Amino acid sequence: MRKLAAGNWKMNGSAAALAEVKALIAAHPATSCDMLLCPPATLVARMAEVATGSALSVGGQDCHAQGSGAHTGDISAQMLVDAGASHVILGHSERRADHLETDALVQAKTIAAQAAGLTAIVCVGETEAQRDAGKTLAVIGGQLDGSLPPDMNRPDALVIAYEPVWAIGTGRTPTLDEVAEVHAHIRAAVINRYGAAAQGMRLLYGGSVKASNAAAIFALPNVDGALVGGASLKAADFAPIVAALTQA
Ligand code: PEP
Repeated sequence: MRKLAAGNWKMNGSAAALAEVKALIAAHPATSCDMLLCPPATLVARMAEVATGSALSVGGQDCHAQGSGAHTGDISAQMLVDAGASHVILGHSERRADHLETDALVQAKTIAAQAAGLTAIVCVGETEAQRDAGKTLAVIGGQLDGSLPPDMNRPDALVIAYEPVWAIGTGRTPTLDEVAEVHAHIRAAVINRYGAAAQGMRLLYGGSVKASNAAAIFALPNVDGALVGGASLKAADFAPIVAALTQA
């Protein structure tokens, strides 16, 4: 399986930030892992143009479940493909919180994304209150049950990102044992749902990954890469994370 270093720029970046993309491509002209950046929708096409012929793939941060229609402000999976994207992040905790996205909606978007030919990166994760209440595995299990599509399609067309909500953008991370426990639980759940082929599905960890903690996280079983927010904005921060994954 090729591992995946994915960056989520969130609502950050304008044309000037494409210099960071060029620097990242220069730092990793070829990689033994997959390298992905998901900029805001306004930059997808321009970033894809910069990335043409390089080791970098480009993705969206969300898509609508419908292909087209009267949905002001939304973009469809087909539009992302048209702009040069190959991946899309779905069900990020910020969208679940800010836009009240439910598991059922995330599932519908995931089905639409795969139908359009995109690799869907489905995010799950517990809040701090849920972890403190000992509900982490039950919460993750429920999110997987509700958010994943009925069919996996190819194992590489579906990626799961485990992102504890309390670890996103906070500088705090679970212990390595806690990450390993959740990833083992997710692996068992996807094998139970899709069969043995889900052994080849990539499971990412996300939440305050940086160059200093990446290698230890990547050494864990069932961690096949990372979804990185803040540390993906600058090539100087993201390139060492990609390097750590190539060495894992
Ligand atoms: C994210 O938003 O997906 C994320 C993991 O953010 P950060 O790396 O900044 O915690």
